[in-house]
Amino acid sequence: MPNRFLDLLASHDGPIVADGGMGTMLMAVGLLFGDPPEQWNVLPEKQAHVRAIHRGYLDAGAQIILTNSFGGSPFRLKLHNLHGQVFELNRAAAELARAEAGDRVVAGDIGPSGELFEPMGALTYDAAVAGFAAQAAGLAAGGVDLLWIETMSDLNEVRAAVAGARQAAPDLPVVATMTFDTRGFTMMGVSPADAVAALSELGLAAGGGNCGNGPDEIEGVIHGMRVALGERAQGTGDRQESGSPIPSPQPPAPGFPLIAKSNAGMPEIVDGRAVYSGTPEVMAGYARRVRALGADIIGACCGSTPDHIRAMAKALRELPALTLDEVALASAPAQRQAPGAAQRAREERRARRGA
Ligand SMILES: [Zn+2]
Repeated sequence: MPNRFLDLLASHDGPIVADGGMGTMLMAVGLLFGDPPEQWNVLPEKQAHVRAIHRGYLDAGAQIILTNSFGGSPFRLKLHNLHGQVFELNRAAAELARAEAGDRVVAGDIGPSGELFEPMGALTYDAAVAGFAAQAAGLAAGGVDLLWIETMSDLNEVRAAVAGARQAAPDLPVVATMTFDTRGFTMMGVSPADAVAALSELGLAAGGGNCGNGPDEIEGVIHGMRVALGERAQGTGDRQESGSPIPSPQPPAPGFPLIAKSNAGMPEIVDGRAVYSGTPEVMAGYARRVRALGADIIGACCGSTPDHIRAMAKALRELPALTLDEVALASAPAQRQAPGAAQRAREERRARRGA
């Protein structure tokens, strides 16, 4: 069965551009902090906003857009008493994106549950699979081309989400990205090398990193993943420390497609909100560097807008490709952060999850 995403992967010449942040854009048109963005998918007076955001990213050059369903799992919707509408809200999310995308790719966005797995928390693997399957069923019914699991910290949760996706939509490709916002590891301690090993073994169509503490961090993550893939392909076991400076100009290993979706710079908390300082120019530079480091699908995350994606797409299209020699990771991401910034970013995320 033909699939728009697999066709794009197979036929693209150069990097594929994905979209940027959804929450950022919704807040700019009136979504209140703590309100469920997914509800807008079914509110007649709000649907136009969601579609306009999709259209903005498509006009800016995104070849893949993500549905407005990051918090559309029953675990997250339950916080808003919307868990009876999992199917409806996700199907509507997919339909709104599909209506704008034409022949371009619509990815059904699946975010983390926000809960901890047993034994640290109460969530069982089976309950997680069932919850993610319910979300995936709605997204599939609304016409997505693939399922896009993102912002994950726990490999068990990734496995549960992939299993749920495949249960509900066995014909759709699945991709997953994790967030390496804790000194180059996920909050649950997963390294880029371990993540890419697990993601590729799951048979995903692509994998990588998203969100976090800005381009420096994601660039290190993608480099670590590409090096790990190369070592696996060559059968050498030595791993490189994640986040270390780029050691050698060896070309990126081919194979497993890598996704990079960086936040627009480093979040700073101002009046209880995350504010992102990355300009379109900064993100255009990131797009070129992360491409050289081995990313195949390049987009952005929190704090980004169509202006960022437009600058990124233009830079990738019009400026010469950088070589690894030209890409300098000056230092480990953690050393570049302002004191306390990572802690504040974590508190902000925790507030969002609990909201
Ligand atoms: Zn983000």
